Amino acid sequence: MWIYKNLAEWRDLNATAVVREWVNGESFLYLGRSYRLSLVADQDVDLKLLEGRFCLKRSLIDAGGEAAAKAAFEAFYIEKGVSRISKRIEHFASKVGVKPTGLKVKDIGYRWASCTKSNMLQFHWKCMMAPAKIIDYMVVHELCHIHHRNHNDAFWNEVDKVMPDFNERKVWLKKYGAGLDL
Ligand SMILES: [Zn+2]
Repeated sequence: MWIYKNLAEWRDLNATAVVREWVNGESFLYLGRSYRLSLVADQDVDLKLLEGRFCLKRSLIDAGGEAAAKAAFEAFYIEKGVSRISKRIEHFASKVGVKPTGLKVKDIGYRWASCTKSNMLQFHWKCMMAPAKIIDYMVVHELCHIHHRNHNDAFWNEVDKVMPDFNERKVWLKKYGAGLDL
Protein backbone atom coordinates (compact mmCIF):
# COMPACT_ATOMS: atom_id res chain seq x y z
CA MET A 1 0.00 0.00 0.00
CA TRP A 2 2.83 2.38 0.93
CA ILE A 3 4.66 1.70 -2.32
CA TYR A 4 1.47 2.09 -4.32
CA LYS A 5 0.64 5.43 -2.69
CA ASN A 6 4.10 6.84 -3.29
CA LEU A 7 4.23 5.60 -6.85
CA ALA A 8 0.92 7.35 -7.48
CA GLU A 9 2.27 10.56 -5.96
CA TRP A 10 5.43 10.31 -8.04
CA ARG A 11 3.33 9.94 -11.19
CA ASP A 12 1.26 12.98 -10.28
CA LEU A 13 4.38 15.08 -9.78
CA ASN A 14 5.82 13.99 -13.08
CA ALA A 15 2.72 14.22 -15.23
CA THR A 16 2.44 17.29 -17.44
CA ALA A 17 -0.53 18.53 -15.48
CA VAL A 18 -3.08 20.62 -17.31
CA VAL A 19 -4.76 23.23 -15.15
CA ARG A 20 -7.56 25.09 -16.89
CA GLU A 21 -9.20 28.41 -16.39
CA TRP A 22 -12.02 29.12 -18.78
CA VAL A 23 -11.03 32.69 -19.53
CA ASN A 24 -9.94 34.75 -22.53
CA GLY A 25 -6.40 33.95 -23.64
CA GLU A 26 -6.26 30.45 -22.16
CA SER A 27 -4.65 28.12 -24.70
CA PHE A 28 -5.96 24.89 -26.13
CA LEU A 29 -4.32 22.32 -28.37
CA TYR A 30 -5.58 21.14 -31.72
CA LEU A 31 -3.43 18.99 -34.04
CA GLY A 32 -0.31 19.89 -32.09
CA ARG A 33 -0.81 23.63 -32.22
CA SER A 34 -1.87 25.94 -29.45
CA TYR A 35 -4.83 28.30 -29.96
CA ARG A 36 -6.05 31.02 -27.62
CA LEU A 37 -9.59 31.08 -26.31
CA SER A 38 -11.96 33.95 -27.01
CA LEU A 39 -15.27 34.08 -25.19
CA VAL A 40 -17.76 35.57 -27.63
CA ALA A 41 -21.19 37.07 -27.07
CA ASP A 42 -22.93 35.24 -29.86
CA GLN A 43 -22.20 32.90 -32.75
CA ASP A 44 -23.91 30.16 -34.79
CA VAL A 45 -22.27 27.22 -32.95
CA ASP A 46 -21.06 26.72 -29.36
CA LEU A 47 -17.41 26.48 -30.37
CA LYS A 48 -15.42 27.04 -33.52
CA LEU A 49 -11.89 27.71 -34.66
CA LEU A 50 -11.88 31.09 -36.36
CA GLU A 51 -8.86 33.14 -37.49
CA GLY A 52 -6.48 31.25 -35.21
CA ARG A 53 -8.68 31.42 -32.12
CA PHE A 54 -11.05 29.05 -30.35
CA CYS A 55 -14.27 31.05 -30.13
CA LEU A 56 -16.56 29.79 -27.37
CA LYS A 57 -20.02 31.16 -26.66
CA ARG A 58 -19.83 33.00 -23.34
CA SER A 59 -23.45 32.18 -22.45
CA LEU A 60 -22.48 28.49 -22.44
CA ILE A 61 -20.10 29.03 -19.50
CA ASP A 62 -22.54 31.38 -17.76
CA ALA A 63 -25.23 28.70 -17.86
CA GLY A 64 -23.31 25.42 -17.53
CA GLY A 65 -19.89 26.37 -16.18
CA GLU A 66 -16.76 24.34 -16.79
CA ALA A 67 -18.68 21.15 -17.59
CA ALA A 68 -20.52 22.81 -20.47
CA ALA A 69 -17.29 24.35 -21.82
CA LYS A 70 -15.53 20.98 -21.66
CA ALA A 71 -18.46 19.31 -23.41
CA ALA A 72 -18.24 21.84 -26.25
CA PHE A 73 -14.52 21.09 -26.71
CA GLU A 74 -15.11 17.33 -26.59
CA ALA A 75 -17.84 17.63 -29.24
CA PHE A 76 -15.43 19.69 -31.39
CA TYR A 77 -12.63 17.11 -31.10
CA ILE A 78 -15.02 14.22 -31.78
CA GLU A 79 -16.44 15.83 -34.92
CA LYS A 80 -13.00 16.72 -36.29
CA GLY A 81 -11.65 13.35 -35.14
CA VAL A 82 -14.20 11.26 -37.03
CA SER A 83 -13.48 13.18 -40.22
CA ARG A 84 -9.65 13.16 -40.00
CA ILE A 85 -9.12 9.70 -38.53
CA SER A 86 -11.48 7.99 -41.00
CA LYS A 87 -9.44 9.51 -43.85
CA ARG A 88 -6.16 8.37 -42.27
CA ILE A 89 -7.56 4.86 -41.72
CA GLU A 90 -8.51 4.77 -45.39
CA HIS A 91 -4.98 5.90 -46.30
CA PHE A 92 -3.15 3.32 -44.17
CA ALA A 93 -5.51 0.29 -44.18
CA SER A 94 -4.42 -0.94 -47.63
CA LYS A 95 -0.73 -0.48 -46.71
CA VAL A 96 -1.26 -2.63 -43.61
CA GLY A 97 -3.47 -4.98 -45.62
CA VAL A 98 -6.49 -4.95 -43.33
CA LYS A 99 -10.13 -3.83 -43.34
CA PRO A 100 -11.36 -2.41 -40.04
CA THR A 101 -15.13 -2.70 -39.48
CA GLY A 102 -15.69 0.83 -38.20
CA LEU A 103 -14.50 3.85 -36.25
CA LYS A 104 -15.59 5.51 -33.03
CA VAL A 105 -14.12 8.65 -31.47
CA LYS A 106 -15.12 9.04 -27.82
CA ASP A 107 -13.84 9.00 -24.25
CA ILE A 108 -12.13 5.65 -23.85
CA GLY A 109 -10.58 6.35 -20.47
CA TYR A 110 -6.82 6.02 -20.02
CA ARG A 111 -6.07 4.62 -23.47
CA TRP A 112 -5.38 6.57 -26.64
CA ALA A 113 -6.94 4.03 -28.95
CA SER A 114 -8.03 0.44 -29.15
CA CYS A 115 -9.03 -2.28 -31.59
CA THR A 116 -12.03 -4.39 -30.58
CA LYS A 117 -12.42 -8.14 -31.22
CA SER A 118 -14.67 -7.28 -34.15
CA ASN A 119 -11.91 -5.01 -35.59
CA MET A 120 -13.68 -1.78 -34.83
CA LEU A 121 -11.14 0.99 -34.12
CA GLN A 122 -11.77 3.39 -31.24
CA PHE A 123 -9.86 6.61 -30.57
CA HIS A 124 -9.98 8.91 -27.58
CA TRP A 125 -11.07 12.44 -28.56
CA LYS A 126 -7.88 13.65 -26.83
CA CYS A 127 -5.92 12.23 -29.80
CA MET A 128 -7.00 15.33 -31.74
CA MET A 129 -4.79 17.48 -29.55
CA ALA A 130 -1.70 15.63 -30.79
CA PRO A 131 0.25 16.56 -33.95
CA ALA A 132 -0.99 14.91 -37.16
CA LYS A 133 2.02 12.60 -37.40
CA ILE A 134 1.33 11.28 -33.89
CA ILE A 135 -2.30 10.57 -34.84
CA ASP A 136 -0.99 8.70 -37.89
CA TYR A 137 1.14 6.57 -35.59
CA MET A 138 -1.89 5.71 -33.46
CA VAL A 139 -3.84 4.78 -36.61
CA VAL A 140 -1.08 2.50 -37.91
CA HIS A 141 -0.66 0.99 -34.45
CA GLU A 142 -4.35 0.03 -34.19
CA LEU A 143 -4.53 -1.22 -37.80
CA CYS A 144 -1.58 -3.53 -37.08
CA HIS A 145 -3.50 -4.95 -34.11
CA ILE A 146 -5.90 -6.50 -36.63
CA HIS A 147 -2.93 -8.73 -37.62
CA HIS A 148 -1.45 -9.16 -34.13
CA ARG A 149 -3.45 -8.62 -30.94
CA ASN A 150 -0.39 -8.35 -28.68
CA HIS A 151 2.65 -6.11 -28.66
CA ASN A 152 4.98 -8.91 -29.71
CA ASP A 153 7.91 -8.70 -32.13
CA ALA A 154 5.70 -9.62 -35.07
CA PHE A 155 3.40 -6.70 -34.22
CA TRP A 156 6.20 -4.10 -34.04
CA ASN A 157 7.69 -5.51 -37.22
CA GLU A 158 4.36 -4.87 -38.95
CA VAL A 159 4.26 -1.27 -37.65
CA ASP A 160 7.87 -0.77 -38.79
CA LYS A 161 7.09 -1.91 -42.34
CA VAL A 162 4.47 0.81 -42.79
CA MET A 163 6.05 3.50 -40.59
CA PRO A 164 9.83 3.05 -40.24
CA ASP A 165 10.15 6.10 -37.93
CA PHE A 166 7.36 4.92 -35.60
CA ASN A 167 9.64 4.80 -32.57
CA GLU A 168 10.24 8.54 -32.37
CA ARG A 169 6.47 9.11 -32.59
CA LYS A 170 5.93 6.51 -29.86
CA VAL A 171 8.53 8.24 -27.65
CA TRP A 172 6.88 11.62 -28.28
CA LEU A 173 3.53 10.26 -27.09
CA LYS A 174 5.04 8.79 -23.97
CA LYS A 175 6.83 12.04 -23.17
CA TYR A 176 4.09 14.56 -23.97
CA GLY A 177 0.88 12.51 -23.88
CA ALA A 178 -0.08 13.63 -20.36
CA GLY A 179 -0.17 17.24 -21.60
CA LEU A 180 -2.89 16.39 -24.11
CA ASP A 181 -5.90 17.08 -21.94
CA LEU A 182 -8.59 19.63 -21.19
ZN1 LIG B 1 -1.32 -1.55 -28.94
